[in-house]
Amino acid sequence: MNKIKKIILKKTAFTVRFHPWVYKNHIAVVDPEISPGDIVSVITHDNAYLGTGYYNPKSVIAIRILSRKEELIDNNFFNKYIFQAFQKREHLKKITNAFRIVSSEADSLPGLIVDLYNNTVVFQITTLGMERLKNEIISSIYNTIKPEYIFERSDSIMCKLEGFKPAVSWHGSQGKENVHIYEGKGKFIVDIAHGHKTGFYLDQRKSRIAVEDFAKNKKVLDIFSYTGGFAIHAALGKASKVVCIDIKNEWLEQLKYNAQINNVSEKIECIKGNAFNILRKYIQTEEIFDMIILDPPSFVKNKSGLQNAVKGYLELNRLAMRLLNNKGILCTFSCSHHMKNEIFSDMLKKAAEAEIKTFSILKRCHQDKDHPIIETIPETEYLKGYFLSIINKN
Ligand code: SAH
Repeated sequence: MNKIKKIILKKTAFTVRFHPWVYKNHIAVVDPEISPGDIVSVITHDNAYLGTGYYNPKSVIAIRILSRKEELIDNNFFNKYIFQAFQKREHLKKITNAFRIVSSEADSLPGLIVDLYNNTVVFQITTLGMERLKNEIISSIYNTIKPEYIFERSDSIMCKLEGFKPAVSWHGSQGKENVHIYEGKGKFIVDIAHGHKTGFYLDQRKSRIAVEDFAKNKKVLDIFSYTGGFAIHAALGKASKVVCIDIKNEWLEQLKYNAQINNVSEKIECIKGNAFNILRKYIQTEEIFDMIILDPPSFVKNKSGLQNAVKGYLELNRLAMRLLNNKGILCTFSCSHHMKNEIFSDMLKKAAEAEIKTFSILKRCHQDKDHPIIETIPETEYLKGYFLSIINKN
């Protein structure tokens, strides 16, 4: 085994024993030969081996641990971890041909996301250390997943923060940028080159499919609809009508296409605009719905923004509750890790009280299983939601 350069931690760095992140202030000594992006051995203050990871002094998370064993980070390493992760998702093949195969820290591969869309794998790198291992990653994806096409979507804000060049391109032969997938009964087109994340919100699969069971004969409002994940399932669940709101026309055009391929176009209406304004307008015109889906983008980018974000969620949920019939259903979500479930459910109680309503919980929601939640890595838990029956108090 090549001699790997060492980084020695301070005595205070005890969290590193069970969490893959080593913060800058955990570090006591860095071997002077180490360059940003290098693989390093992480050593405790009393000279015990703790793990192997990669180093980037540009980030506050200076090291991310890849392995707790003294092993080489090479093709074999990636073959083993990517194959394991792929096998874990085997059960999802019964309901979909689109799922996350590698979910970064939650699959012991920090800085790497690998998603499958039908015959195409889309991967995204978010750290300099992983970027340096790109060739190994690509060859392991071919070896283990054996997709027809591989597309790279490494264009998140992390590229700049970590100090590497963004890359959006095919590796090997070129597939199609618009890939057809299915999820339960729903069919969708996914724009892997321009869509959010790697093209689709795979983490919401379970909740989207569940909407079908609640939507029958209901007039549904899907706020923040993106390409219609929820809207299509609501329509397939025999909703009488589904109104979709998004601020970007591009997504609504894709939504209309998705409606066509599912034969539900006649039920779907798309409105382009700011959700807050449109909801306020509905209140003025006394438009009422039987079911509202509220899946906003993350309002909380960091801890300090939490208070303002809670205000935003409160306003949105109050507006939605006001627009619902008595016993109407609110499917409400937050995808921010900083918005803990206690804060979210407390906000919902406040929203109901302020609207002189109450609710019963029909269903609790989480990110789907291909985005695993690891007990010792709290950051892996981020998506939470509820299906609520909203009841008038008087
Ligand atoms: N529910 C969707 C994902 C929603 S993503 C699914 O399961 O596929 C959030 C969406 O909100 C994005 O499409 C974004 O364009 C839209 N958006 C962001 N801010 C908005 C605003 N102020 N008003 C309306 N839509 C907005």
